[in-house]
Parts: sequence; C-alpha cells; structure tokens
Amino acid sequence: MNIFFDVDDTLITWDVKLRPHVHDVFARLKDDGHTIYLWSGHGPRWEVVRRFDLHHHITDCFWKPLHNHRARLTELGVPFAPDFAVDDHAEIIEVFGGLVIEPAGAPYGRQDEMWRVYDEIAAFAREQQPRPSPGA
Ligand SMILES: [Mg+2]
Repeated sequence: MNIFFDVDDTLITWDVKLRPHVHDVFARLKDDGHTIYLWSGHGPRWEVVRRFDLHHHITDCFWKPLHNHRARLTELGVPFAPDFAVDDHAEIIEVFGGLVIEPAGAPYGRQDEMWRVYDEIAAFAREQQPRPSPGA
C-alpha cells in the first residue's frame, strides 16, 4: 500500500523532536512491502527527512491538500491518493481513510503510539487481501 504520513504532530512534536519508534515502525512497514510518503500542509518536508535520517524509509514528500482535498491532489502534484493516511487531524482521515494518531508529545501520551499505527496498518492490509474461496 501507499501510506501517507502527516509530519507536524504526527511524526514530530511542536519543538521538532521525533516521536518514539518512528524508525523501527517505518522499517517494518517497508519489510511488509509498503511504500511510505510524507506530506504536509507546509509542503514537502525534506528537511525533516534529512534531520532525522529517514531517507531509507521515505520514497517521496508532497504537499498535503488542506481543503478540497481530493480535487487538489493533481494541482499539488500528488500523483495518487493514499491507500492509508496517518494524521493527527481527523478531517484528512475522513477524506482519505486511515488512522487518526494521537498528537506527538501530548501530555500523558502513549509512548508506543507508532506501534498502534503499525498494528492498524497491518490489520487493514490483511483485510485488503482477497480471501481464498471456501474449498479452494
Ligand atoms: Mg499534523
């Protein structure tokens, strides 16, 4: 699947710290055959890829549409819609599907939130697979 991650408050905190377990979860997602993209309302965030050494995991970075979401993909140069999106804003998930993540660095926030994301993506991917027909 093509998985699109938001950046601010999804992968990094307001003071630009990387959420725990991002590297391990991205590596697992790639091992599972997924392709990972970042997108952001502030544009392609290659500076975040560089700063946190994420280039092994990230295939491309895009602008994220903040309104008229699907209609604006072409205009923003996003070549296809996500199969699964991860974002701290429910609006994006309502449009594209995926998972709303708890904002990074939230007080009392779960330290293993990225592994919850991994589990949800893995479960979703299993659902997408054609089921063997009975008796086959
Ligand atoms: Mg965000």
